[in-house]
Order: sequence, then C-alpha cells, then structure tokens
Amino acid sequence: MPDLSRYFDHSATTPVAPEVLQAMQPFYAERFGNPSSLHQWGQEAEAAVEMARQRVASLLGCLPEEILFTSGATESNNLGLRGLARIKLRTEGKQHLLTTPVEHPSVLNTLRDLEAHEGFELELLPIDAYGRVSPDEVATRLRPETALVSIIYASNEIGSVNPIAEIGEVCRQASVPFHTDAVQAVNYLPMDVNALQVDMLPLSAHKFYGPKGIGILYHRNDLGLEAVQTGGGQERQLRAGTHNVPSIVGLAHALSLARERSEEHATKYRQWRDQIIAEILDRLTDVRLTGHPTARLPNHISFALRAVDSNALLAALDLAGFACSSGSACKAGMPEPSRVLQAIGLEPEWSLGALRITLGASNDEASIRDLIESLVEIVPRVRATSAQDQG
Ligand SMILES: *Cc1c(COP(=O)(O)O)cnc(C)c1O
Repeated sequence: MPDLSRYFDHSATTPVAPEVLQAMQPFYAERFGNPSSLHQWGQEAEAAVEMARQRVASLLGCLPEEILFTSGATESNNLGLRGLARIKLRTEGKQHLLTTPVEHPSVLNTLRDLEAHEGFELELLPIDAYGRVSPDEVATRLRPETALVSIIYASNEIGSVNPIAEIGEVCRQASVPFHTDAVQAVNYLPMDVNALQVDMLPLSAHKFYGPKGIGILYHRNDLGLEAVQTGGGQERQLRAGTHNVPSIVGLAHALSLARERSEEHATKYRQWRDQIIAEILDRLTDVRLTGHPTARLPNHISFALRAVDSNALLAALDLAGFACSSGSACKAGMPEPSRVLQAIGLEPEWSLGALRITLGASNDEASIRDLIESLVEIVPRVRATSAQDQG
C-alpha cells in the first residue's frame, strides 16, 4: 500500500475514521433490520436512523424532519434542485434559475438539464478573479420569477469561500429559496442553517471521514419539495428506497467528529497550507495561486502552472508516492481546460497546468516537507518534457 501520509487529495475523498467504522459495524449483520418493517428488527433499525437524523439536525441547527438521507451529494443536489424548481414552475410559474459558472457538475449539469428539457431559464452570475460571488450581484439579478438561487459555499476546485450568510440574507429578503452546496465547507466553516439563512444544503459523508454512497439534504420545512424518484414511501415520501442503515449511522458519527475537530484541524491545516503556498510561489517560476489567498478553505491549495501538462505532473507525483489532483473531474485523454479555471479568466497555457493539494488527517509535518521538496524538483522536469511534447 502507498504511504498514507502522502495522500493529498482530501477534497476527492477521505478514509473512514476508525470510530466511524466501529459505530457502523453492528448494523450490517447483527442489527440488520429494515427500518420500514414493523417487527423488532425493523424497530431497532428505525430507532438508529432516527437517532442519526436527530444528531445531524442538532449539528446543523434544524429540525430532524428537515433532514433527508440520500445516496450522496450528487443525489441531494438533484433532489433539491429538481424537486423545488418543478414545484415553483408548476404552482407559481417561476422559471428563472440563478447560479454561478463555478458550481460542482452535480449542480450545474442539473440546472442545465432543467433548462434544456423543462422550460427553465438559467442565468450565470458574474464571479471575481477568485471565483467568488458578491451579494450585491445576486440582489441585482433576482427577479419576481426567480424560482431559486444556487451558490457553492466553498469551491472544490480552487478553494474560495463565498459570503453565504450575506447572500442568504439577500435571498431571504426577496423570499427566493437559496440552495448552497456545502460539501467542501462542512469540515471547517459555520454550518448553522439559520445563521446562514439557507433553505437547502447537501452534504456527503465521504468528504468528512464517513462512508461513500451516503449523504443528506437539509431542506427547510416550509419549502415545497417533490420526489424525483418513485418507489416506496421512505423519507416522508420524498426519497424512495430502503434506508442504508449502517451508512446513515456512520454519517451522523462522522459529522459530529468533524464538527468537534473543526477548529483544531483548521488551525493546523491553515499553517501547512500557507507554508506550501509561500514556498512554492517563492521557489518555482511561472506558477500562480488560483482562488482567494485568504478567503479559502484551510486545507486547500490550488496552483496553475504555466506550460505544464497537469496529467503528466500528477503521474510524476504519483510515482513519487504523492496523491494530488488537478481539481476537476477531467481524467486522462484529451486535455480540456477546466470550466472553473476558464471562468476565472485563465488562458489554456495556465489552466492546463492545474494542481490541487488538499490536506487532511493523513498528513504530517514530514510529508508536507517532502511534498514541497518533491514539487520543487518535479515541476521543472515535467515542464521540460511538456515543452518537448509540444514539438
Ligand atoms: C464531492 C462533491 C459533490 C458530490 O458528492 P457525492 O456524494 O460524491 O456525489 C458535490 N459537490 C461538491 C462541492 C463536491 O466536492
């Protein structure tokens, strides 16, 4: 197995914390009941699910019935955005959707699909050079026919944090529902849904040391929502399908650990983050930080490297034992500049050389030092071969 301390891709996924795995274990083979069954096995499973729901609700400052369990944030975004937009169009004739060009694909592609097939009009807000949205821009673009606003809390790709509470205030004053993708924010940033004035908020457990394939959607209870998948009546008719009991238990456990450790982790990672940024900008040429220098996730570092092939760089880092990312889902094959980096105005010469380093519980002082020294050695080498390949 590779060295875990060289895993620098915590925005892609995190390992399940040992305590979380332990909490989940009994719900596979011993307490295996279906929460929808009436007998004791079912009741026990149902109690575990409801306990988990209460735990999650108290961590987000909402009511238990405002939490829906889903298969992850991709599903939560689909359910929340489709389920609300359709009601708004049908009951109030509202067809205007407002979002940003730097959303996760599970938000942007869902909204684009609503525009392409269901009669909505999608408008993209302007963003600044760091990929952030200003509350004033939101205010000027709200219309009487705006069905919803969706703005990412913290960017998975460039780490910038949006002023969500201020945007929430603007939307609430205009009585327009506000959805924010908080998947990357949950480990470090405020999560009280009332203080943030958000109406819908998805989370995904595997981004906070919980299991994959489980997530939640917070949705304010006086907001309409309709199911997008048909089946049984689970989750108050809003999300059909047998509950994933072990994963629901694991999600709640992982979320409370993440919120407990939030400040301690943020302080530690912020120091490492700033050390990596300072040294790399100082010791390498033709490199810039993407995203905001300070209003960014404490664990998130993203660079654009001029005239470097990002996939070649990731492969070279992998050979040296380091797991990093380019930040977007674009894999090997035809290199395409990232949509987010294009949106903040980077030319392909820079945007094709994206590097994302996301810190987490796996890392330590020694691996941070090793990463910096390896980057200083590897980047110029990859840049030289990238230049050769281009002829
Ligand atoms: C990972 C991620 C998602 C998708 O979550 P899944 O549970 O993996 O489907 C959505 N939004 C953001 C910002 C993410 O980082």
